[in-house]
Amino acid sequence: GHNGGKGGWHSAKLCAREPIMLDPAASVLHYAQEIFEGMKAYRREDGTMALFRPDQNARRFNDSARRLAMPELPEDAFIEAVETVVKADRDWFPDVEGGSLYIRPFMFANEHFLGVRPAKKYKFLTILSPAGNYFKSGAPAVSIWVSSDYSRAAPGGTGAAKCGGNYAASLVPQAEAIAKGHDQVVFLDAVERKWIEELGGMNLFFVFDDGSIVTPPLGGTILPGITRDSLLTLAREEGLTVREERYSLDQWREDATSGRLVETMACGTAAVVTPVGRVASRDGEFTIGTGGPGQLTSKLRAKLVGIQRGEVEDTHGWVRTID
Ligand code: PMP
Repeated sequence: GHNGGKGGWHSAKLCAREPIMLDPAASVLHYAQEIFEGMKAYRREDGTMALFRPDQNARRFNDSARRLAMPELPEDAFIEAVETVVKADRDWFPDVEGGSLYIRPFMFANEHFLGVRPAKKYKFLTILSPAGNYFKSGAPAVSIWVSSDYSRAAPGGTGAAKCGGNYAASLVPQAEAIAKGHDQVVFLDAVERKWIEELGGMNLFFVFDDGSIVTPPLGGTILPGITRDSLLTLAREEGLTVREERYSLDQWREDATSGRLVETMACGTAAVVTPVGRVASRDGEFTIGTGGPGQLTSKLRAKLVGIQRGEVEDTHGWVRTID
C-alpha cells in the first residue's frame, strides 16, 4: 500500500489469492486511476524460470503512473513482487507447448473520497495465471478490422500509458471487429483518421519487398510495446533498414495490392510475433502477401522466442532468470 505523502510504499506481503474489499467511494471506481502491466515467465530447458526485460515493464509502469498522477514504485520493488509470485506459483506452470505464466502487476487508487483529484491512497498487487499458446496452432495469420468510427487515443491523452481506461474505450471497436469475423481491431490516428496506429493489444510492423521495415512512431498515442522495442533491435541486427514513420491505411492497401508490401507483423507479449494475413475496413478488404506467415515474421519470431526460452544466445542481457 501507499498512503501518499513521504511514507512511500509499505506492508509488502505474499498471501493466497483472496477478494479485495473496496469502499463504495474508493476513487478507482469513480475516476479510473488504475494502471497495469502484462508480462510472462518462461521455463527454460534446464527448468529455471525466466523473465523477459522486466526492467522495461517496471519503467513503463512508472511512466503510466506519472501520467495518471499516481505514485511511482521503485524498479526493484516491482521486480521483487513479480519474482515472488512466480516462485510461489511455479507449480502452476502449464504443461503445454508454448506455455508460460502470464503476470499481471497492477495499481489502483483506494482512497474513500468523491472528488476529482489524485487519490492519497493506493494499492499495488501482482497476480498471475497459467497461459497456453495465445493462438492454438502456433502463429497463424490473423485477420484484422480497421475501425472507422472509434479512436483508441488522442494526442495529449493517455494512449502511451497502460491504464484500464484505454482498454474500456477499446471494447466496443474490438467487439465490432469480432462481430465482423476478424480477430483484432486496428486503430487509426484520432486527428486525420488516416495513419495506422496499433491493434487492440499489439504493435505493427510493415515489411517491404526491398527488405526494409516500417513501424508507426510512438508519438504519445501508441503503447510503447516491449516486443516492439525488441524487434526493432533484432531487425537492425539482421541488417535490415527499419524506419519509425507514419504509414497510412491507403498506402498499406496500395502497397499490399502492388506487392511492394510483403508482410505485416503484429507483436506483443501475449502472441509474441504474429503475421497479419487479411485487412478489412469499411472500404473493402485486402490480403497481405500470401495471406499466411511470411519469411521475416517467422524468422524474427523464432529468434525472439528462442531468446526468451534460452535456446538462442541472449546477447542483450534481456533475460532475467529466477533462482
Ligand atoms: N499495444 C497495446 C494496446 C497493448 O495492450 C499491448 C500489450 N501490452 C501492446 C501494444 C504490446 O506491448 P508489449 O510488447 O509490451 O506486450
